[in-house]
Amino acid sequence: MRLVFIGPPGAGKGTQCKKLLELLQIPHLSTGEMLRTVKKQDSALSRWIASYIDAGKLAPDHLVMRIVAQRLQADDCKNGALFDGFPRTIIQAQLLDDYLAEQNLKLDMALELQVVEEELIQRLLKRAQIDGRVDDNYETIRERLHVFKTQTAPLTEYYAAQGKLETVDGMQSAEQVFDAIRVCVEKHLE
Ligand code: AMP
Repeated sequence: MRLVFIGPPGAGKGTQCKKLLELLQIPHLSTGEMLRTVKKQDSALSRWIASYIDAGKLAPDHLVMRIVAQRLQADDCKNGALFDGFPRTIIQAQLLDDYLAEQNLKLDMALELQVVEEELIQRLLKRAQIDGRVDDNYETIRERLHVFKTQTAPLTEYYAAQGKLETVDGMQSAEQVFDAIRVCVEKHLE
């Protein structure tokens, strides 16, 4: 199964991803992690990427698609993948659809996790204290939520039009959220 996981920062995607990966036994393709890995290197590219991540802005669409396409060529991605934090824009969604179509493949499902904004801010500030992520300060959090609302949220309509969208209420307990996700996934499994 190829599944796109959409949710604002702090929605609990990380927790649910872990459970989903165990259930589906597919590779986890997190563009945030991929970009943070490049960011740690010492190169012009890593400094360029850092300038986006540290400001809470989106890295350029074609750059992200190139990194994802490279990862998708690996053998472990033949039978599926869980896309986490990607696509983040309509252009990325189109680039992914085009890339998959070229390989005679397709996405099966887009899963949206919904959480109200006040709760997201509280969760992210808490995470900042625990993880010490540079992009989890108040200003960057607001920017990332704004970017999500304006650039990423429209993806739900894009996937709804393809009949692939499932929405889950992320304000429930982690177990309840996962039960709801499992029901959605089973609907789309062939
Ligand atoms: P995440 O770990 O998914 O919250 O991503 C952390 C940061 O990495 C984001 O705030 C962006 O700066 C960058 N990033 C991650 N995924 C993407 C993407 N698909 N497109 C553009 N930028 C991304």
